[in-house]
Amino acid sequence: MFFDRTRKLWHSLAFRLTLWYALVFVLLAMTAFALFYLLIVRVIDQRTDEDLLTNANRLGQIYNLEGSEMLQRAALLQVQSVGEHKMFFRLFYATGIFYSSSNMAFWKSIGIDRRAVDDLLVKGRTYSYATQPIPDRPFKARVIYRRFGAAIMLQMGYSLEAENRLLQSFQRIFMITMVALLGLAVMVGWFMARRALAGVASVTRTARQISEEDLETRVPVFHQHNEIDQLAVTFNQMLDRIQHLVKGIRQMNDNIAHDLRSPITRIRGLAEVTLGGADLAEYQGMAASTIEECDWLLHMINTMLTISRTEAGLDPKSFRRLDLSALAHDACALFQPLAEDKGIQMQAEAQGGCPVLGDAAMLQRLLANLIDNAIKYTPTGGRVRVGVTCDGESARLEVEDNGTGIATEDHARVFERFFRGDRSRSQEGAGLGLSLALAIARAHGGDISLTSRPEQGSLFTVRLPMEDSRTQ
Ligand code: ADP
Repeated sequence: MFFDRTRKLWHSLAFRLTLWYALVFVLLAMTAFALFYLLIVRVIDQRTDEDLLTNANRLGQIYNLEGSEMLQRAALLQVQSVGEHKMFFRLFYATGIFYSSSNMAFWKSIGIDRRAVDDLLVKGRTYSYATQPIPDRPFKARVIYRRFGAAIMLQMGYSLEAENRLLQSFQRIFMITMVALLGLAVMVGWFMARRALAGVASVTRTARQISEEDLETRVPVFHQHNEIDQLAVTFNQMLDRIQHLVKGIRQMNDNIAHDLRSPITRIRGLAEVTLGGADLAEYQGMAASTIEECDWLLHMINTMLTISRTEAGLDPKSFRRLDLSALAHDACALFQPLAEDKGIQMQAEAQGGCPVLGDAAMLQRLLANLIDNAIKYTPTGGRVRVGVTCDGESARLEVEDNGTGIATEDHARVFERFFRGDRSRSQEGAGLGLSLALAIARAHGGDISLTSRPEQGSLFTVRLPMEDSRTQ
């Protein structure tokens, strides 16, 4: 249980973000401290060096004007005025033999820095600096070496105790501030990460709540126009689509059940009647009706399968260069007798030369479904027009009638599977013709639109990309 929680926390984005915040903060703070620390050390060193040089130069002038005796006295006075724990001096010959110094009890046997002396003797410099440890003392001394004349060397040093203490307390203050700020950074980081990820948590909660029964719940959107808001909006849009799809599937299931039940009930009724006793003619009649009903069922099932396959995409190998106008003319010729029987005037307005790349059988089915509907839903004495035009980019097929028309609220639904208008119930049909037509148009990279008004007729417009524009 505990390990589970720890593991969960370790893997959580909020925890990791907090760690990153804290790490970045610590790194930045430490860099700032290091720079500041180096700056302070440099300023202190510079100031000490300047002081030492001023003193050494002053002693140099005294030596030049008044000689070695006065030099010793002046150096001693200098040390006494500053303090024997704070400053010392020693005079020695180039051979390394000391001949004068201040009280060295505090400084013990502080050595001579070889490199600094070499700077004077070998490189010929007048002065040189060194930072040297003081035996048994926890701090160092900053020391200047200066040459007087050819043989006399001055070693004069300042204790760095005060500076050391200053830097130590600076370090301590930094550590305390760091710990406090780190705690604050973790708290602020945790708070900020939780706040930033609160939206994600709300999306997760909503996703958990959603089940097949409850598709209504939506993630709250706070309209702050940030990424989380975008996620919530996209998630809600996805839920809308899922809800719409589930609703469509449920409705389709109901429709399939309903449409399958009627023929099966009829077959059963026939069988029941015939079972009660019948002669050969009645048996034959029952068999013929059963075949008819089964054919109808098979037709429905096959159409459903064709729609699904077409929606999944047609085989590109079945695509050929076709003239849409020729296809339209052929279809009109095929339906002419049916239209004449019903007293409907068929009009084909298709000029030649509208090349499209497509599956001939499928496009014929599309045309047949639209023209069949136009004749079916137009009363005697009506008119059906089939037109094909093309504008270089797309080919336009129009199937227009002046029949019953479609109510505006049904315009989108007529393309749904099994949808049948209330007034179409008297006509034969399964409500699959327009779904298939739309699937075919889309499989060819096109679409179908509808303009219609009740009692005034309908105009179905199919747009297909022209062959030239597809091959480009
Ligand atoms: P079916 O014609 O088998 O009912 P469709 O999918 O072809 O199925 O059409 C769906 C519905 O759209 C029809 O039931 C009808 O209400 C309506 N419809 C289709 N075409 C027309 C049209 N030309 N005029 C009026 N209504 C139409």
